[in-house]
Amino acid sequence: MFTPAGHTVETISVLLVEDQPGDAGLVTRALGGRRGQFEVTWVETLAHALKLLAEMRFDVVLLDLSLPDSQGFPTIGVIRRAAPTVPLIVLTGLSDNDMALAAVEAGAQDFLVKGEFEDAMIERAVRHAIARGQLEERLRRSEARLKNILDLAHDAVVSVDAGQRIVLFNPAAELMFGYRTDEILGEPLSRLIPEPLHARHSAHFGEFLRNAVTSQVMADRPEVSGRHRDGTGFPVEISLSRSAGPEGPIFTAMIRDITGRKRTEAELVLLATTDPLTGIANRRHLLDCAEREMARLRRSGTPFSLIMADVDHFKRINDTYGHAVGDEALMLLASAFRPVIRENDLAGRMGGEEFAVLLPEAREDEAVAVAERVRHHVAGLRLPAMSAAGAPDAGIRFTVSLGVAEGRRDDSRIEQPLARADQALYEAKAAGRNRVMRAGAARELVAPLAAP
Ligand code: GH3
Ligand code: MG
Ligand code: MG
Repeated sequence: MFTPAGHTVETISVLLVEDQPGDAGLVTRALGGRRGQFEVTWVETLAHALKLLAEMRFDVVLLDLSLPDSQGFPTIGVIRRAAPTVPLIVLTGLSDNDMALAAVEAGAQDFLVKGEFEDAMIERAVRHAIARGQLEERLRRSEARLKNILDLAHDAVVSVDAGQRIVLFNPAAELMFGYRTDEILGEPLSRLIPEPLHARHSAHFGEFLRNAVTSQVMADRPEVSGRHRDGTGFPVEISLSRSAGPEGPIFTAMIRDITGRKRTEAELVLLATTDPLTGIANRRHLLDCAEREMARLRRSGTPFSLIMADVDHFKRINDTYGHAVGDEALMLLASAFRPVIRENDLAGRMGGEEFAVLLPEAREDEAVAVAERVRHHVAGLRLPAMSAAGAPDAGIRFTVSLGVAEGRRDDSRIEQPLARADQALYEAKAAGRNRVMRAGAARELVAPLAAP
């Protein structure tokens, strides 16, 4: 139908539940006079009302609380359950404030005192009840949506009040921290933070409380970690936000467990820096570290040295015992550095049967002494093996030749000291192998042991 202004107006369907024909007549007349905007269906019992509510949709229910088949507030609950989203106005015989409040608390949108309302009042009450019902429905939907988001989120969502008491804890948070929501609500946030970080966390929190910033991300800091119920810690990435709640500010953290990512990162770093056969540093990593030492030498004059080592007659091992045994010899050799080099020295495999040691803060003399220890140690190694013919062997022995060079301030590329160490190594080979030569003097330092 059309209002005088020409707007389309929906007819409002009213279910009137009232056993007193006189009272029902008052309501019907009041609404009936409103230019046909209301369509009133009148029933006299709760049973009849429930039957109609199950069959069709009403915009509003007007309910008398004393019916032949139901008395008092329980009637409100019954109607509510039958039609949870239909607004409900209670008709009472008494002008009693407590009673009215109780009706609203029981789920009614409004109440009207019979005999006291005028025609315009009932129309206004109906329209308000419908508007309120729609608002409530929107709120319900928005809450359901929010709950759905929180329930399905992979990130833990934890909110605290200004006193750092937990006020929201989603299912992902239950999984991540090992607490049930019902037992953690109201608990201090510190339950979720490793003990050693409590003081620092409180400082951060206070800062965020005073700060004008309303959101920030905390990541890639060692102090950002969570604490599981069982006491174990785990690295997390947190985005924080502050919002205004009805009882003061609410702080919400979205928390992601990054244990897996950290592990992958560590694995990638390991992959990128180690030699797969021997597990020691690869060429790239050793050169990266050597370049840092070169920069340090230029900056502060701190010396460093390099040792290059190459297995003597390695082809013979491969030829006699096979490539797999050759590989074992390389693994044995790789493990032979650690016991004889210094704590800060780095041994790496440069490729094939060539190895190198980077010695930070070492002059050539010192490096030569380390190289000599390596040479001596390797000469004493025995790799248990069978000969290619299948006969047990006393153990494969092998030796290495080594070249030593110290970094120079005028070196501009790491290849330069590396080439000097290589040249010294070549001279050690030429001079008969199983010996150490230094680049500085290009002079043999150690007499060869008896050949293996
Ligand atoms: P020298 O250095 O004393 O002059 O003699 P060599 O026999 O060691 O000579 P060279 O350095 O020319 O040969 C190195 C050999 O090492 C050649 C290659 O087959 C072998 N080799 C290189 N990488 C590997 C590896 O990863 N595993 C095995 N088993 N052998 C390798
Ligand atoms: Mg070689
Ligand atoms: Mg060799």
